[in-house]
Amino acid sequence: MNPIPNDYAEAALEITEYSHLMWSKGYVEANGGNISLKLSGDMIISTPTMESKGLLRPEDMVISTFKGDKIYGNRFASSEIKTHIAVYRSNPEAKAVIHTHPPYTCSFAFTNSLPFKSMSVEALFWLDKMCIVPFIMPGSVELSLEIEHHCKGNSVILLRNHGLITWGESIKEAWWRTEAMESNCKISHIIKERGDTPVNLSERERLSLENLRNSYFNRP
Ligand SMILES: [Zn+2]
Repeated sequence: MNPIPNDYAEAALEITEYSHLMWSKGYVEANGGNISLKLSGDMIISTPTMESKGLLRPEDMVISTFKGDKIYGNRFASSEIKTHIAVYRSNPEAKAVIHTHPPYTCSFAFTNSLPFKSMSVEALFWLDKMCIVPFIMPGSVELSLEIEHHCKGNSVILLRNHGLITWGESIKEAWWRTEAMESNCKISHIIKERGDTPVNLSERERLSLENLRNSYFNRP
């Protein structure tokens, strides 16, 4: 037994709550999906491998080094933790990474299509920086290298034939990007299904939103 020290109890609880949220929203299936938070001292705390995200408890979490070596926890981290470390390496400001398989997002990731981009304030605000990574076997070194290469500055990462990774300066921001992406993909699907065309926000509206974004993300 190698339990997580009490200093990290709050982080373990936070991950547990968001794990339950992502399961209850139907964004993960079986043992899919994972969440991590960056801790001080080049450590990360993450969900364990081979478990439903709907059943996790704080004591199931795992603390690893930035090299992926386990330090604390009674379980083992997912092999997909390598992709989280790649995100943190590329983006020093990232504090949380969330990986999910939301159905509407996957319906775009599993085809060669993309959702509409500029229909709503939420999409422009949270999904502005997106990149697309081709399919590479989950948990592989090749995938983490590809993510490290592509995701600098891109906080929404669409993984072809796999799912979604989002990151943020807090777990709340990472989660809001996941929710905003799934919602935008769902609305895009409905519009396409109806054979309709979206009305995009105007250039002026986009510019004023860009200013709002800049003041929010460049906050002290
Ligand atoms: Zn996955």
